[in-house]
Amino acid sequence: MAEDTGGVILISACVAGVCCRYDGEMLPDGELVREIGGRPFVAVCPEVLGGLPTPRTRSFFSRGDGHASLDGKARLVNEDDEDVTEQYVKGARLTLEIAELLGVRLAVMKENSPSCGSRQTSRGGERVPGMGVTSALLARAGIRVCNESEARELLR
Ligand code: SF4
Repeated sequence: MAEDTGGVILISACVAGVCCRYDGEMLPDGELVREIGGRPFVAVCPEVLGGLPTPRTRSFFSRGDGHASLDGKARLVNEDDEDVTEQYVKGARLTLEIAELLGVRLAVMKENSPSCGSRQTSRGGERVPGMGVTSALLARAGIRVCNESEARELLR
C-alpha cells in the first residue's frame, strides 16, 4: 500500500513535463506522474525561480555539493565561467517558501541536477554523490526528499 505522503507533493518541473531544463527540454516521467495520480502536486523549477533563463548555460559545483554551497563553502560555476551560486541559492530559498506555504512533506526531485539531485549531483561535468542546492535546503527543513525511482516505489 502507498505510504501517506501528506498533502501537496512538490516535484521538479522538468519531470512533470515543463521545458525548463538548461537545454530547453524536459525529461517527463510518465510512470511517476501516473503514480502521483490524483494526489495534489506543485511543479517547481528552482533554477528558473532563481532568475536563470531557459535555455541556459550548464552549471556545476566547483567543489562540494548543495550543503557546502548553503554553508558558503562551495560555488556553482557555469560553462562560461560565470559564478551562479547566488541564483541557485535564491531558487532553493523560493522553492522552500513555496513548500512551506503549501505544507509539503514530500519532494520528488530530478536526480543528478546541481539543484534537484538528492543522491547524486554534478561536479565539473561528472556525476558525484551529493545533494543539489534545493534538495539540501528542503532536507534541512525536514522535508522528505527523494528521486524519481524512490518516489515510484513510495507512491505505488
Ligand atoms: Fe529540472 Fe530541477 Fe533542473 Fe529545473 S532545476 S530543470 S526542475 S532538474
